[in-house]
Amino acid sequence: MNRHSVLKFVIWTTLALVSAQAAADPGSSAMVAREFRQAHEQQLVDEFAALLSMPNVATDAVAIRKNAEYIAELLRPRKFQVELLEAPGSPPVVFAQRLSPGADKTLMIYVHYDGQPVNAADWASDPWTPVMRDGMVEHGGRQVPMKAPFDPEWRIFGRSAGDDKGPIIALNAALDALDQAGIPLSVNLKVFFEGEEEQGSPHLEDMLSRHKDKLDADLWLFCDGPAHQSRQWQLVNGVRGSFGFGVTVYGPNRPLHSGHYGNWAPNPIMLLIDLIASMRAPDGSILIDGYMDRVVPPSLSEMEAIDAAPSVDAGLVRELGIGRPETEDRLELAIMRPALNVRGIHSGDVGSQARNAIQPSATASIGLRLVPDLTPEFAREAVEQHVRKQGYHIVYQEPGNEDRAKHERIAMLDWSESGYPAYRSDFDLPMIQQIAGIMDELSDQPLVRMPSMGGSLPIYLIEQVTGTPVVILPIANHDNNQHGKDENLRLQNLWDAIEIYAAVLTNL
Ligand SMILES: [Zn+2]
Repeated sequence: MNRHSVLKFVIWTTLALVSAQAAADPGSSAMVAREFRQAHEQQLVDEFAALLSMPNVATDAVAIRKNAEYIAELLRPRKFQVELLEAPGSPPVVFAQRLSPGADKTLMIYVHYDGQPVNAADWASDPWTPVMRDGMVEHGGRQVPMKAPFDPEWRIFGRSAGDDKGPIIALNAALDALDQAGIPLSVNLKVFFEGEEEQGSPHLEDMLSRHKDKLDADLWLFCDGPAHQSRQWQLVNGVRGSFGFGVTVYGPNRPLHSGHYGNWAPNPIMLLIDLIASMRAPDGSILIDGYMDRVVPPSLSEMEAIDAAPSVDAGLVRELGIGRPETEDRLELAIMRPALNVRGIHSGDVGSQARNAIQPSATASIGLRLVPDLTPEFAREAVEQHVRKQGYHIVYQEPGNEDRAKHERIAMLDWSESGYPAYRSDFDLPMIQQIAGIMDELSDQPLVRMPSMGGSLPIYLIEQVTGTPVVILPIANHDNNQHGKDENLRLQNLWDAIEIYAAVLTNL
């Protein structure tokens, strides 16, 4: 060894020792991750871009399996035992585990590697040819070379950049940083990367049941969804359930002249408007009998957490140009209630196509967001009772003339959409509190803790089948355009995720 390499050796061993001794505190694990990231930004961006360049719509069985195999190969060199879990008709789940000697807890990290279908023509650049821009396309972001040094405000664009391939890269980087520094994980780590989340996870229950014996864990860390709108990190205990239906009401069996028959022949558009208005108050509360009785008010600790979170309402009102929100409640409280959202109404025409006619029918599509205790079964029952109470005869198929003549009012309901219930884990569960404490320590901004996200994911299945509670740790920027065009991930969010994973995995 020459003098130079001796010196280098001494520095490295000292660094490793310091790091290893400091393993018990989140700050030093995060610092190790930060230094590793700073030294490897180009490599991380390249790895991310390579992963994003693989088309990943779940219905493309060949492409989605390629993603799974590629991700499995990424995990293998990182001390994981990897396998693809299969279920008939389903894209594989990439499952891997990495045991840590002496660890008495197991953390399961959930990510999904499939993405929403795209309408490539809407995108500013090809959805599966990742590019870097210095801002959102909507705000005039310009394309910049995908070359270090990177501004942390830059964003990488591509389908699944924000939803949900980022955590795969971040987790691998965290493990590389810790391994290089010789810092052991304090938990057994398992990963469950799903391949059909954006299709509504139709095989998730089967997948979980078939492979239940491998899926033992103390907690599932669900890494999906957007971070808080304030850009502060957040930990979320649940999601709303999702359901919906179609409703068609009827007027005359052929379009009628509105001069000859107006005020006499029932106008289905008006009937539909009245029916919907009878279900939902202007402030969003649902007027269907028994519906709101199922809503459990927030617990004391849930309420405290919401009160402590930074309010984003005023900023969002400006950003979204919405004038005034529907309710006096802040956003975080409003999304803890069930919602009835009119997704669309169709009948007649407007503008130059408008005709002075009374239409034969009008149809609405209604989306329902559910809260715990408000199951899809209950929602359907309550909606049907309500529609009957408004004087409608309910049918499930297009009514014929005989039916139309026999009943004063007819509503055809379409319940073909499959729904699923909400999920909320115990806000005070010790392992969740521990993760909250670790995240809180890492940032000078307080961690935002949310009892529930407004959106929906079929998380209830995980606890139902495996018996393990779930908490959601989203890493994507809130304005990542997930599901839309020009989906992106802000680099700082990716960098932060690496530090959070490193701290959590060494301090649980
Ligand atoms: Zn997602």
